[in-house]
Amino acid sequence: MRIMITGGAGFIGSAVVRLVLGETDHHALVFDKFTYAASLGGVPRDHPRLTVREADICDAGAVAQFLARERPDAILHLAAESHVDRSIDGPAQFVRTNVLGTAVLLEQATAYWRALEPGRVFRFHHVSTDEVFGSLGEEGRFTEETRYDPRSPYSASKAAADHLVRAWHHTYGLPVVLSNCSNNYGPWQFPEKLIPHLVLCALDGRTLPVYGKGENVRDWLHVDDHARALLLVLERGAVGHSYNVGGRCERRNIDVAAQICAILDELAPRADGRHADAIAFVADRPGHDRRYAIDASKIARELGWQPRESFEQGLRETVAWYVENRAWCEEIKRRGYDGARLGLGA
Ligand code: NAD
Repeated sequence: MRIMITGGAGFIGSAVVRLVLGETDHHALVFDKFTYAASLGGVPRDHPRLTVREADICDAGAVAQFLARERPDAILHLAAESHVDRSIDGPAQFVRTNVLGTAVLLEQATAYWRALEPGRVFRFHHVSTDEVFGSLGEEGRFTEETRYDPRSPYSASKAAADHLVRAWHHTYGLPVVLSNCSNNYGPWQFPEKLIPHLVLCALDGRTLPVYGKGENVRDWLHVDDHARALLLVLERGAVGHSYNVGGRCERRNIDVAAQICAILDELAPRADGRHADAIAFVADRPGHDRRYAIDASKIARELGWQPRESFEQGLRETVAWYVENRAWCEEIKRRGYDGARLGLGA
């Protein structure tokens, strides 16, 4: 297959590209604007099955030209503004890329798909988030049937994109699949996200900020497990269906912070105490969703997907990766993140 991967230079996109190039015969056709969040995560640019185009999904001409030239069999759509705190400070860019950009891509994909020779298989896979379902109390999990209830500008823009993708399927027959995944972690994640942010604060000898009382719960999944799920849904998912993807791994933020500190006490001990001494509770994120948890039984039952990485082992390897890759972290931070608190919506 020739797979167009929008956002293929981002955290999850580059994990997909590594998987495609390393474990399949498919071609990876990356279409990415290369915003502050992009790095291509260790992918060798000169790989014979890789094409990289720097362009914006909101640019209909660039999308049409790319489709005409590269002739993909599928589109895996990951390009998005993805950082929730930034969506609180500047929602317009999230609406532009996530909503308008998805609509532009759908229009161009539909024109391209309609002109394909009869019998040629084509798929449009929209990669979305569990945050579209809102916030849970102590009990329950999100299923594919859970009512949408997005509550941040980020999740509202992703929900809008999900609705557009379904509308294009129902109205124009575009063969789409969707997936909604929980929080990812792993190497090459932009250092604004919880896990790399805490590791880098600890290594710099700064305080480790934890929002509110640290009691918000997230359901963690290793990015390589997500990448495997994405290819499976793309190749074998039923047209028109969505699949929830999650690790059955709920953790309170404060417990994740404590676990990171314990690993760092071994890998990079402080001279003057334990890393956990530097944890500080800070003002909560406005509208902070309390708990997310995914019921991933549909993708397990229908497509045979299961996560392979345990959180304990995956977290240890991830923390070690950030300790060993400070140069990458410093470089990407220089391009777009100085470590300051974002998302207070002031
Ligand atoms: P990321 O921010 O690391 O990467 C996003 C990529 O999209 C970047 O390479 C960026 O350059 C590109 N991009 C942004 N705007 C663009 C535009 N207008 N045109 C073309 N490219 C553009 O994000 P990520 O964490 O890799 O997330 C990828 C996708 O997965 C997103 O759609 C996100 O909503 C979804 N998702 C993420 C998570 C998570 O935990 N990170 C969980 C579930 C779903």
